[in-house]
Amino acid sequence: MKSEVKNQKSEVGSQKSEVRICPLSSVLCPLFSVLSRVFIFCSCLFVLGGCVSNDEPMPEIVQSPGSESRFIPPRIIKPKQDWGSAYKNIPGNWLPPSQLEKKWVAVVVHHSATETGNAAIFDKMHREQNHWAGIGYDFVIGNGTDSGDGQIEVTFRWREQIPGAHCGGTANNWANRDGIGICLVGDFSRTGPTAQQMQSLLRLIRFLQKRYGISKWRIYGHKATPGARVTDCPGRRFPMARLKSML
Ligand SMILES: [Zn+2]
Repeated sequence: MKSEVKNQKSEVGSQKSEVRICPLSSVLCPLFSVLSRVFIFCSCLFVLGGCVSNDEPMPEIVQSPGSESRFIPPRIIKPKQDWGSAYKNIPGNWLPPSQLEKKWVAVVVHHSATETGNAAIFDKMHREQNHWAGIGYDFVIGNGTDSGDGQIEVTFRWREQIPGAHCGGTANNWANRDGIGICLVGDFSRTGPTAQQMQSLLRLIRFLQKRYGISKWRIYGHKATPGARVTDCPGRRFPMARLKSML
């Protein structure tokens, strides 16, 4: 671009010198001479101005590594097939049917407060004792007693994308309606979760955070969920601070 401008300048310069020596304008018509100079001056400005406005490279938008979250547009849930490469190692049953999928806003972590159990056992318990439609959680993570250690079971609440029954008392029932309930089998008022359970929980939460744009500040233990009824869940031995530090 610089060489183009130089050429343009030199062309203009030569036009200037031609004007200066033109006998017709300098001798016979001084007014024409003045007008010519004004015209040449304006043309010069126009050419240079045009160069700047047309050829100036657009400023590059450089984002610092931490700035993405501030500028990212609201997440739109895409059809399942678009996520194939991003989630190739994710079990298929973690992905809800695309026509039913909801925009979830939080995760609520529970313990079962029992030493053993699995999704089927809690489902029966919640039907018979609580008279609910079925198990209240979306996911159950086993401890090696009635399901595998770290095994993640998906319940009908998640498959059908319907409200859960795991965290009562919140305003407009938001935690059951818009929060994802994950239950780890175990009584964490007595012992902590297994390493496999924590590993599976991390993997599941990271997937849910990525898919629904949930910040780590909206990953709650049951007792810390805003508006939730008083409870000890998920137990004082559940390492909530450590979990948060890994998200
Ligand atoms: Zn709970």
